Formats: sequence, C-alpha cells, structure tokens
Amino acid sequence: MKSAETLSTRRLQELDAAHYLHPFTDHKSLGERGARIIERADGVYLWDSEGNRILDGMAGLWCVNVGYGRSELAEAAYKQMLELPYYNSFFQCAHPPAVKLAAEIAALAPAHMNRVFFTGSGSEANDTVLRMVRRYWDLKGQPGKKTIISRINAYHGSTVAGASLGGMLPMHEQGDLPIPGIVHIAQPYWYGEGGDMDPEEFGLWAARQLEAKIIELGEDQVAAFIAEPIQGAGGVIIPPASYWPEIKRILGKYDILLVVDEVICGFGRTGEWFGSQYYDLQPDLMPIAKGMTSGYLPMGGVIVADRVADTLIEHGGEFFHGYTYSGHPVAAAVALENLRILRDEGIVERVRTELAPCLQSKIARLAEHRLVGEVRGVGMLGAIELVRNKQTRERFPDKGSTGTLCRDLCVANGLVMRAVGDTLIMSPPLVISPAQIDELVDTAWKCLDLAALKLGV
Ligand SMILES: *Cc1c(COP(=O)(O)O)cnc(C)c1O
Repeated sequence: MKSAETLSTRRLQELDAAHYLHPFTDHKSLGERGARIIERADGVYLWDSEGNRILDGMAGLWCVNVGYGRSELAEAAYKQMLELPYYNSFFQCAHPPAVKLAAEIAALAPAHMNRVFFTGSGSEANDTVLRMVRRYWDLKGQPGKKTIISRINAYHGSTVAGASLGGMLPMHEQGDLPIPGIVHIAQPYWYGEGGDMDPEEFGLWAARQLEAKIIELGEDQVAAFIAEPIQGAGGVIIPPASYWPEIKRILGKYDILLVVDEVICGFGRTGEWFGSQYYDLQPDLMPIAKGMTSGYLPMGGVIVADRVADTLIEHGGEFFHGYTYSGHPVAAAVALENLRILRDEGIVERVRTELAPCLQSKIARLAEHRLVGEVRGVGMLGAIELVRNKQTRERFPDKGSTGTLCRDLCVANGLVMRAVGDTLIMSPPLVISPAQIDELVDTAWKCLDLAALKLGV
C-alpha cells in the first residue's frame, strides 16, 4: 500500500470504513459520513486532510496540555529510543527514565504520597487501583473490605474494571457490568439533577449519599470511595462548593480509602498540579495519565500514599501485578520532558493566575445566549448547558440532538468542542493564548446563533 500522504481523503475514508474499528464509535453512521481525517497539528490548532484549520478546544482528549508541535518531546523520545528503547521493570530491574519520573512525580504530589506505579493508560491505572485497594485491606487483616463506592456518570476508563468503576450506564449494559463489589451513588450534578434544591443544599445531599451507602453496606465491607475531582467525560460536572468538604467530613469518620482519579485534572488542568490540591483532598491513591505525557505517548500510573505503599511493601511480599510497558523508558523520557516544559515555562502557574481567569470570564458571557442555561468551569475546563427554557432548565426534546447539532456546527466552523448529551464541554491546551480564547468564544457564540436559527428559536 502507498504511504498515507499520497492517499486522497476519499480513499482514506474508504479504507477507514473497511478496516478500522474505532473506539466509542457508531460504525454504521461513520461509514455513511466518512471520518474526518486529521493530518497534522501545531500549538492549539489541527489541520484536516481538506486543509481546514480547527482550534482544538478539547486538547485532543483532555491530554495535550503543552500543545502540539513541541519538538523537545520528539527529541526526548528519539534520544531515548537510541539509548534504550525498551526494558522492563520486572525482576528487580529499573532504568533511569522511570526512576527519575517516579521521583519527580512524587515531588509534585501531595506530601504524603511518595511512590508511583506505572501503567500504559488511565484505564490500566484504575485496574491497578482495584487490585491495590483490595490487596491493602487483605494485608490489614480486613479481607471483608472489598466494595468500592463510585458515582453514577463517573468515567474511570474502558477496561472491565475501569468501566465497572465508572458509572456510565450504557457501558454497563453492553458488558454485563459492573463486576461484583462495585456500587454507585448519585453524582453532584446540580444543573441536571438538583431539582428544587439550591446548589449548596444539593451538594450536601449528594455527599451524604456516600455516608448512607457506607452505613447500608457496613463500614467493614467498604474498601474505598473513588471519584474524579471534577467529572470530565460525564459533562464537566463541577460539584457545588459544599460537596467536597462534606465528603471529607464523612471520610474522616470511617476507615475507607479515598481514590481521586486525576487522569484529567492532573498536570495543571485546574491551575494546580493536581485536582486534589485544588480541592484540598487527602487521597490514598491517585490514578494519572493523559496530561502526564501531554498525550505524545501513552502512559499512566497510580500515585500511592505512604499509608498504602508501606503496607504493601512491609507486609505484602510480591504483588502479582504489572504490565509489559509499566514505566516504558521512551514514554517516561517524554513524560519527564513534558514535566520540565510545564515547570520551566511556568504553565501551571500561568493557568492559575492568568489563563483560567481569562477563559472563565470570557465563556461566562455565553450564558447570555438564548440557548444557554448555565456556563460553568474551573481552571481550563468549561461546560455550556443548552436548554429550551433558561428559567425552568427545560431541555429540547430528543435528548442529545441539540448538543450534537451545536458540536457539528462548531467543527464545521473551525472549533472542536465535545457534546455530552445537551452539554457542550471544553478542555483546551494549557498554552492557549487570550486571543485564541477570544476566537474560541466568538466561534462558539456564532455556532449557538446558527443552531438557534435551525431550531427556530
Ligand atoms: C480518560 C480517563 C480515564 C481512562 O484513561 P485511558 O487512558 O483512556 O484508559 C480514566 N479516568 C478518567 C477520569 C479519564 O478521563
């Protein structure tokens, strides 16, 4: 077969439809429409095979934190491939990139977390979490503590354990999930589910579902509570201010582990290195991935608190768990260089002091649009709720169709946003400029106008 550059868009779409099974894709409609082929990228922009320039308001899939086209990351990979392209960390071996990366991540993490287990992805990180949490309680002599409490509409990946820990009901239906020992409580999604309660009242109510579930199951059966600081794939759901303090109060009362899934919030997205720092949480385990390498290579991990690591190490013997690519030297070298860029260029600091306030104040104006019921955001995350009636929060009929309409209009007009039902979400690279934020907001407004016209409102 000829190299990709010489193939026309049409031909690529045909081959794609014939051979490539995509993740999270309805292939019937993909075959009818033809995939959009993305060929290259630089900074915050993508170019498709038709030459269209598109502002990537999602940083790929929440991951390209330092933006596209950073040659330092390519050079780090190239050098490491020549030096040592692969070796494992099984059987009492290690290599410099993984060791240095573990030490650097430990230095950035909250003070009580000093060890890292590496994986190839966020899903593998959450599989690791499940096994570590259960192993921990076995070693503590409390083998009854097996159940993990998660939340409806959480996202923790797509492996069997990841999808089970997640609370995506359509995913559960397709795989006879969740596996036993994982239960789900309500999510702190005030706009969608708050009913007549005010946001703070609702935040307390949602947090207290955790306590009710612990009491229902018995503390001696519950191993951990897992949550994203801010739900990402669920629709950028930002808990009311009352939520996390109440969760902390409850966790203080019961002896269960806290797993904070930092796959999206980690590495600067909130303006802190980790979402746990933004919300002042004390996690026992933090799954990470995505922004860890800015997506340039696949890599994930679990940052482990001393309390858990010490137990596994002192009393555990061998932990029969790991992946061929755990701590992969090339991925680790790229992650190290990515951390250097984030640090030396003051990117996380700049998000906190300049870019997040800029993004949040500018997207807030979209709330004046007649289709928009609420705009919310933290750091470089944002969500726009599309509604028929601003006062009653009433949606348009045919759930999801308005979100899809707006999303498609945005892409056609040079902006990637994602639609979760009738919520538009964004998560741009952390290096987007204020002028590019203007471009994002102006394009979004224009597309909301076009959508309103089509909907006849
Ligand atoms: C993306 C994501 C995952 C899964 O990561 P993969 O690398 O896709 O396996 C897990 N948790 C959260 C919060 C995510 O956003």
